[in-house]
Amino acid sequence: MQITVVGTGYVGLVTGVTFAEVGHEVICIDVDSTKIKMLKRGEVPFYEPGLQQLLVHNLANGRLTFTTDGDEAYRLRDVIYVAVGTPSKADGAVDVSYMEQAVVDVAKAIEEYTVIVIKSTVPVGTNERVRAMVAQHTSCPFDLVSNPEFLREGSAIYDIYHGDRIVIGAEHERAAETVAMLHKPFGTPIFHTDPRSAELIKYAANAFLATKISYINEIANLCERLGANVDAVAHGIGLDRRIGAQFLQAGLGYGGSCFPKDTRALLHMAETAQSDLRVLAAASTVNERQPYVVIEKLKKRFSSLRGLRIALLGLSFKPNTDDLREAVSLVILQELQAAGASLIVYDPVVDHPKGNRVLEQVMFAGSIDEALSGAEASIIVTEWEEIKAFPLARYKVLMKEAVVIDGRNCYPLAKAEKAGVEYYSIGRPAVN
Ligand code: NAD
Repeated sequence: MQITVVGTGYVGLVTGVTFAEVGHEVICIDVDSTKIKMLKRGEVPFYEPGLQQLLVHNLANGRLTFTTDGDEAYRLRDVIYVAVGTPSKADGAVDVSYMEQAVVDVAKAIEEYTVIVIKSTVPVGTNERVRAMVAQHTSCPFDLVSNPEFLREGSAIYDIYHGDRIVIGAEHERAAETVAMLHKPFGTPIFHTDPRSAELIKYAANAFLATKISYINEIANLCERLGANVDAVAHGIGLDRRIGAQFLQAGLGYGGSCFPKDTRALLHMAETAQSDLRVLAAASTVNERQPYVVIEKLKKRFSSLRGLRIALLGLSFKPNTDDLREAVSLVILQELQAAGASLIVYDPVVDHPKGNRVLEQVMFAGSIDEALSGAEASIIVTEWEEIKAFPLARYKVLMKEAVVIDGRNCYPLAKAEKAGVEYYSIGRPAVN
């Protein structure tokens, strides 16, 4: 089929590349001409494992092309996927302006029956509103389908091929079947529903996962008070299949481009609909506080943070991505900057990003060794494999004072004891 994908961000590019990989003919369009130039050269503008190879392969076989030209991208296509950003506004509501602009552009350009698919995460009722907008700008027949995305940055390609479900929210069977057909090669189970329910499934799923994280983080904080070990508690409850073991890793809370924004959006939607979401509101508050547990641990250990040399390991909001959107590292760095600490950071892929006020004021190290050398305290913020595999004994050798605050429980306590470091983690007894 002839497919267009609007937006070449984490979701749009992965969608376009994998549709090309399974044999569809794909045009990806973006308003960012620098991105499009890079993509035409076979360069991925962000870090996502496995994406580069698939991009190069499908550029070479001619199934994948890139453009900034709406006429080329929108005329005479079977299906047009909209995967542009839907960021938060200051009050938590969703800014759908990029999405609206994209669908108006699409509506003005189409010349025959086209299926328009909203892949961006959008508030409930958006598909209905968008349908009316499209109808205002075209006399062509069209269908609108909601098809929210569930991939995770860092394992996006894997997730496309091994997804748990594809959700299709459509009013007409013909359009729903077209979208289902497109996904057939991936072999993922398909769930058909109405557009409003499809839109809400995406938010309710992310809110549930966010709540699970906040729940275990609160239990972790309680473990510290009661002398229990959250690793054991999480394992013990996760063995119950009704609960499941995933998303029970205690840490510094969730960040990233989805969970914080989507929980805020759902809370805002509920408020507008005069419906209380008290559990989610609490989960969100817990999450906002959680990064501060490392600051409290540092303040308890050192009389003052002023001038203290602190190494921070891991900047991205989670491993295997370079995404810094709402990353916990930025909250911690800002707080430490305010306290006058001297900061050096290391991340395997994030390196001197431009235009980030917090990161402009810190030193970047080229390796874990360099970050730790002479440091008086270290904080593990992102559990990259390289960071988890780094021997604790090296902390002892390299640091001036081997105080390790492990915000992601990367090491077993026995290893910390053996390495002779002073080790504080989340929801587990301190080793000192
Ligand atoms: P992104 O910010 O990485 O990319 C969005 C892209 O859209 C940008 O390249 C931007 O230039 C482009 N764009 C904006 N307006 C455009 C227009 N009118 N025409 C063409 N291109 C335009 O965003 P993302 O992280 O890929 O997220 C996209 C959507 O998918 C969001 O709604 C997000 O909530 C949702 N989502 C994201 C993830 C994720 O892990 N990132 C997962 C599931 C769902």
